[in-house]
Amino acid sequence: MFLVGLTGGIASGKSTVAAVFRELGCPVVDADQIARQIVELDSPVYWAIVRTFGEEILQEDRQINREKLGSIIFSDMEKRKLLNSITHPAIHKAMFKQIFKYFIQGYRYVILDVPLLFETNKLAKFMKHTIVVYCDPQAQLIRLMKRNNLTQAEAEQRIGAQMPLEQKRKLASHVIDNSGDSTNTYRQVCKLHCQLEDSLDFLAVRLLAAVTLTGIGGLFYILIKRCIF
Ligand code: ADP
Repeated sequence: MFLVGLTGGIASGKSTVAAVFRELGCPVVDADQIARQIVELDSPVYWAIVRTFGEEILQEDRQINREKLGSIIFSDMEKRKLLNSITHPAIHKAMFKQIFKYFIQGYRYVILDVPLLFETNKLAKFMKHTIVVYCDPQAQLIRLMKRNNLTQAEAEQRIGAQMPLEQKRKLASHVIDNSGDSTNTYRQVCKLHCQLEDSLDFLAVRLLAAVTLTGIGGLFYILIKRCIF
């Protein structure tokens, strides 16, 4: 099995492309969804965050107010690092659990949907392939304004706060161009899926697992033989 990182810019179509991969039967590990799950009420990460940032980050229903927490760490690098040191290990552990489950189930590859794949650089080194969902700047602006009900200035500000999509495109091993209609994007995803399914990259990890298990089995055999005879 091998890992494929999926990323993009805000409203470039990453979620749309992830949905197509799912439709084609590919397992998709969603980093954003995991990040929301690990801070659910009364979880260990929830309490670690409350202890660190105080009860003022809680809403009336005692859930963490993500926007308030976001605004605290946005302007304070040290606090951002602190929050990351609490959440990242839990996110990575949950991701690993899901990946392992798909490995056991025999999938050839797993998609990791990670919005900040290139920015944080922690996970990128484990990816055999990376996919950037690209979309031309005009379409990205219009889609973002429409989806999030934003003015042009607000949408431009959100796009401007991210790593430029052009830069991400250069870092990726594959690009899905989502500037056109959804049929066009669907075709590109199908083509890439076939390419990844046909690749023999999955063999390396399976062989490694087989060799390791054979080695462990052999060791047990020797130990049992010695104990009995
Ligand atoms: P992301 O996950 O990258 O933020 P989304 O997949 O949510 O982006 O797409 C952003 C918006 O653009 C959504 O409202 C989606 O329905 C729309 N969209 C995505 N792809 C297309 C397309 N090819 N043509 C028209 N609209 C699209």
